[in-house]
Amino acid sequence: MPIARVALDVPLPTLFDYAAADGIAAGQRVLVPFGRKQVVGVVMECAADSGLAAERIRPVTQVLDEIPPLPAELLALLRFCSDYYHHPLGATVLSALPSRLRSARRIKPGNAAQYALSASGRALDLGRFPGRKVVQHRILAALQAGALNPAQLRALSPGAPAALKALLQAGWVEVCAASHRAVSPAFDNAHTLNAEQQRAVDAVARANGYGCFLLHGVTGSGKTEVYVHLMHRALQRGGQVLLLVPEINLTPQLENYFRSRFPDTALASLHSGLSDGERAHNWLGAQTGRARIVLGTRLVVFAPLPQLALIVVDEEHDASFKQQDGLRYSARDAAVFRANQRGVPIVLGSATPSLESYHNAQSGRYRLLQLTGRALAAAKLPAVRCVNIASEALHHGIGGHLLAALEQRLARGEQSLLFINRRGYAPVLMCSACGWLSGCPNCDGKLVLHLQDRRLRCHHCGHQARVPGACPSCGDADLKPVGSGTQRVESALRERFPDARILRVDRDSTRNKGAWSAMRQQIHDAEVDILVGTQMLSKGHDFPGLTLVGVLNPDSALYSSDFRASEELFAQLAQVAGRAGRADKPGEVLVQTAFPGHPLFRALRDHDYAAWAKTLLAERRSAGFPPFVHQAMLRAEGKREAGVVAFLQQARKAATGLALPVEVYGVVPAAMPRRASHARAQLLVQCETRKPLQQFLRAWRPLLDALPANKLRWSLDIDPLEF
Ligand code: ADP
Ligand code: ZN
Ligand code: ZN
Repeated sequence: MPIARVALDVPLPTLFDYAAADGIAAGQRVLVPFGRKQVVGVVMECAADSGLAAERIRPVTQVLDEIPPLPAELLALLRFCSDYYHHPLGATVLSALPSRLRSARRIKPGNAAQYALSASGRALDLGRFPGRKVVQHRILAALQAGALNPAQLRALSPGAPAALKALLQAGWVEVCAASHRAVSPAFDNAHTLNAEQQRAVDAVARANGYGCFLLHGVTGSGKTEVYVHLMHRALQRGGQVLLLVPEINLTPQLENYFRSRFPDTALASLHSGLSDGERAHNWLGAQTGRARIVLGTRLVVFAPLPQLALIVVDEEHDASFKQQDGLRYSARDAAVFRANQRGVPIVLGSATPSLESYHNAQSGRYRLLQLTGRALAAAKLPAVRCVNIASEALHHGIGGHLLAALEQRLARGEQSLLFINRRGYAPVLMCSACGWLSGCPNCDGKLVLHLQDRRLRCHHCGHQARVPGACPSCGDADLKPVGSGTQRVESALRERFPDARILRVDRDSTRNKGAWSAMRQQIHDAEVDILVGTQMLSKGHDFPGLTLVGVLNPDSALYSSDFRASEELFAQLAQVAGRAGRADKPGEVLVQTAFPGHPLFRALRDHDYAAWAKTLLAERRSAGFPPFVHQAMLRAEGKREAGVVAFLQQARKAATGLALPVEVYGVVPAAMPRRASHARAQLLVQCETRKPLQQFLRAWRPLLDALPANKLRWSLDIDPLEF
C-alpha cells in the first residue's frame, strides 16, 4: 500500500506518514487523523514504504479531491521557503493556503479545473499504450482533441477519476487554463513608449527564460506603463502574470487600474482584506488558469499559476513585503526564486530601490533598467528646499516659510500636503515642574497624547489611560504636550487658516471601513485644501491638484540606532515629494530640518538616488552591514527577563559550540526591551556569504528546538529588517 508523506500545520520539522489508496498524488489535500483529531494536510511525497512499523501507520481518512492537486512547482517553492527561513515545512505549506483550503469543508470548485495533455503526454504514441489501461487510453485520446473539465471527463467512464490521477501522476496530463490558447487581449489607452521605456521593455522581452530586472525610475517616470506593456506581451502569448504590490490599501485602486487597461482579461486579487470565500475563489481562479492577471500583497507569491510567464514586484523596496511573524519570508525574494525556478523574467520596480536590490544590480546579478525623467514632459520633478529649523520660530511644529507657502497655495486654490510620521496630538506629555514623562506601564515606550478623546495611548501595546489633571509624580498641574503629531498640526492649521478645508489622513481617521477611499475621492474632487497625514499619504497616490509638500520633523531617523532608518526615510521622502506637481503645475517640497547639509537632503534636492545609494553602500560596507553581510536574528520574549536572557545565552553557547565560520554576536536587549509586559532580547548571527550562514542555521535550528523554553516565545528571522 502506498505511503503518503503529509505536511501538517504543526511546529515539527517533519512530514507524517499515512497509508493511502493507489492513485494518491503529491499536492493532494487529505484529511488525516492526528492524535485524537482529524486535520487537513497536503501530500508532499508518495513512497512505496515507510520507515515506521506497519502497525503505527494510520490510513488517510479522506482525499479532498474536489480541487486539483497543488502543482509540483508550488510545492518546490514552499520547500525552498521552509529550508531557507528555517520554518517547519508543514506550517509553511499550510500557511500558504487560503483558510478554506485548510479545512475539510467542501469547496465548490466552480468551473474550476480543466485538464490537457502535457508535453510528454502529447509525445505519447497511443497505438503502443498498454491495452488493459482502457480508461486511461480513452482519456488520453479524448484530450488529444482539446482540454476537458472534470464533468466531461467523468462522462467518459465511471473509472475516470482514478485513471486521471494516474495520468496526472505519470505527468502525461496537467491542469490547465480554461483557454490554453494564446489570446490577444484588448489593451486600452496604451501610450507610445518613450525611448527609455522602450529600452526597458525590449530588455525584458529579450530575456530568454529567467532574468531579474531592477527597474529604477523616478516617481512619474512611467514604470507602470512599462509593466503594462510587458504584461500585454505575456498575456498575448497565453501566459499568466503575477503582480505583487506592497500595500493592501492600494490594491483596490490598482485592481481597477489594471482592469481598465485590460478590460477583457480576467484578473483576480489576493490579499488579507478578502473574505475567506473570496480568497479561496480567487486562489482557485489562479490555479485553474481562469485568472490571467493575479495581483496582491505578499501572500500572492504563493498562488499556484500553471502558466506563469511574468512576475512584477512594484515598490520592491517596501518593507511590507517582509512578513514579521510565523513564516518570516520576504515575498520579493521568494518571487525572485520563483521566477528563477520557473524560468521567466521578473521586474522589480521602484523609485528608490532597496540597497539589497541596487547592490545586486551593480554586481551584475540583476540587470539595471533606468527611467531618468518624468514621462509627461510637462510634469517636472518638484523643487526641493530645506528650511533650517534653527532659524525658524515654530508654531506647533510649523515654521514661517511653510506657513507662507501654505498661504500662497490657498490663495491660488491649489492643494498642499503636510507629512508628519506621527499620529496623535503629541508623542508625549511632560510635567514642566519635575520632568515626569507619560510612560507606558507595560512598555519602554511613551504614551501618546490623543486630545480628541483626551486619552493617552500606547502605540505598541494598546494601553490607554485618561489624561491626568495633575502630574502623577509631583502633583503639579502644568502638564505640557511635547512634540507634534498629525492632530496637533491639524488643529494648529485650523486655527491659522479658519477658512481652509483641512483633512487629516492617518490610521485614526481612516479606521472605519471605506473612510480612506471616501477621502481619496474628496481629494480628487478638489474638496480639500490642506492634507495632513502620515506615510499613508505617500504611497502611490496620484493627486493632480497638489503643488506643495511640507515635511515636518524627519530628523530622528537620521541618527537612529536602526541602520536602515535613513534608507527608509529617503524612500519615504522621495515618494511623498513625488506627489507634488504631477500635472501641469510645478511642485515644491519644503523640508524642515536641523541638518539641511545632510547627504540625505542633498540627494533629495538633486533627485539623485544614485548618489545617496553610493553614500549608504559605502557606509554599510565599512560598517559590515547588509547587503555586505547576511544576517539571522534569534529573538526571544517572556515575562521574566532572566529567563529570556538565559535562553538566548544557551542558544549562543550552542551556536559557538558548532565552531562554524559565522559571527555570533552577544545577547542584547531588543530596541524596545519591554513591550506589552514582556522582556525582549535578541542574538544576531552573520556571515559575509549566504551559504555558510545557511549551513550554520541548519545545524543550529535543531539545537534551538531542543533547548528548554518554558514560558517564553522565540523566533528565528532570516534577513531581518527590524532590529
Ligand atoms: P510611475 O509608475 O513611474 O510613477 P506612471 O506609469 O504612473 O509612473 O506614469 C506617470 C504618468 O505618465 C501617467 O499619467 C502615465 O499615464 C503617463 N505616461 C507614462 N508613460 C507615458 C508615455 N510613454 N507617454 C505619455 N504619457 C505617459
Ligand atoms: Zn511633576
Ligand atoms: Zn505599551
